[in-house]
Amino acid sequence: MESVVEELVAAVGAAKVDTAEGTLRRYAVDQAPIIDFHLPVAVVFPASVPEVQAVVRACAAANVALVPRGAGTGVSGGAHATRGCVVLSLERLDRILDLSPDDETATVEPGVINAVLNEAAATHGLMYAPDPASYRSSTIGGNVATNAGGLRCAKYGVTRDSVLALDVVLADGSLIHTGHQTFKGVAGYDLTGLFVGSEGTLGIVVGITVRLKYLPQEVHTVAAFYPDFKRAAAGVLAVGRARVQPAIMELLDGGTLAQLDEIHGSDLSARGSSLLLVQTDGFGAAAEAARIRQVLQDSGAVVTTEESAEAQRLVELRRHSRGAEVDDQYQVGEDVAVPRSRLVDYVAALEAMAGEHRVHLKVVAHAGDGNLHPTFWVDREETGVDAGALARLERVLDESVTAALAMGGTITGEHGVGQYKLRWLGQEQAEPVRELQHRIKALFDPAGILNPGKAI
Ligand SMILES: Cc1cc2nc3c(=O)[nH]c(=O)nc-3n(C[C@H](O)[C@H](O)[C@H](O)COP(=O)(O)OP(=O)(O)OC[C@H]3O[C@@H](n4cnc5c(N)ncnc54)[C@H](O)[C@@H]3O)c2cc1C
Repeated sequence: MESVVEELVAAVGAAKVDTAEGTLRRYAVDQAPIIDFHLPVAVVFPASVPEVQAVVRACAAANVALVPRGAGTGVSGGAHATRGCVVLSLERLDRILDLSPDDETATVEPGVINAVLNEAAATHGLMYAPDPASYRSSTIGGNVATNAGGLRCAKYGVTRDSVLALDVVLADGSLIHTGHQTFKGVAGYDLTGLFVGSEGTLGIVVGITVRLKYLPQEVHTVAAFYPDFKRAAAGVLAVGRARVQPAIMELLDGGTLAQLDEIHGSDLSARGSSLLLVQTDGFGAAAEAARIRQVLQDSGAVVTTEESAEAQRLVELRRHSRGAEVDDQYQVGEDVAVPRSRLVDYVAALEAMAGEHRVHLKVVAHAGDGNLHPTFWVDREETGVDAGALARLERVLDESVTAALAMGGTITGEHGVGQYKLRWLGQEQAEPVRELQHRIKALFDPAGILNPGKAI
């Protein structure tokens, strides 16, 4: 291990290799529950593509595992350190290399923060559409590696839909370019699509060309408050049946509204027990919002059209709805998705299982995509008294995932499998499909040094 640190220092210089205990601890975990804690041997901070290549070559030569890391906001343990690994931080590769208003594309280094790219694009009347609620802190490289979703994905699609080309450092330190600068391009296999969502297991993403979209001049926000969560979920289907496309369609249950009120001093709970927050954008935004308002009123909601400051506030509150706490063994935020037609059934199933297992539940959902984030938790003090609480939490997690799969859903809509969700992957994917993925991994990374034990 000492020799790999020496090799890293030789590769990028001592100033970019950190072995201080505080740094190792800070970079050992992301925001997911910890299953198997390990400190990395070193954290390395390359500042150029050749330096990333040199780091990968040094680790390959020493057969040491590499865990790539963006901002560490992941919630599946994809960036958790593994035994004896080196954490490769991409945060110093943070330049916007090109932004072409006429091509409507941008090329960035992986450490660029999502919000920073959006600020730069906005000066040209453009936006980078995929906007995870973590957009102020997460990196484009991390977004690509997890194929992140977000609020605007209801209309504009997820990260993969915006990525045109990638520069990737492979496990032997070589550099490849995939994809194209054009919106269209179908030459050969879609390797760009394969790298997107591969969670750092196939290569290190060091350059990203994305397609930008027009920043809407007009945005209308509709807040629909319902007396219960099931009716709010039914509102999502009603909007779909009206064949109107919202840019944002987010669902927040009573537990989430109460927590937001407590933390931010808002008055959401006083307005209803559940909130369906909808935004339309573009030149037809007013007409679309009027139609949605009507549909939601007919479905039993108290509907308000929000002025821009209040609308902004509601969307910001939604972005904060994970709360400040980081998941651990007492509290776990889930990320399943179900076909939209099953939203109401799934919400009902969640409420029933939380009641049966005496576990707290709050739910937010990127409802337009059928993507739900139920958070289950047990009281910390309770675990001392009632040793069964943690077991009940585990059971409810298993049941919530099994129920989503039984409805035709998936174990992860946008957060990725990482380390934490591996236990459920076999329920979703048949053995031949998993075996094929392991063969793809072996082709790209025969020695298995890139983010081992994650994603597949
Ligand atoms: C408050 C909060 C809200 C969130 N909201 C959303 C949301 O709305 N939608 C959503 O999808 N997610 C959301 N997330 C999860 C998280 O922000 C995303 O998964 C995000 O894409 C992670 O980016 P990051 O830069 O933090 O990556 P990290 O957490 O550092 O890494 C994530 C994964 O990508 C790999 N990786 C990182 N950079 C590279 C690279 N350059 N090359 C190869 N592999 C790499 C890592 O090894 C790891 O497997 C949220 C998280 C928080 C804490």
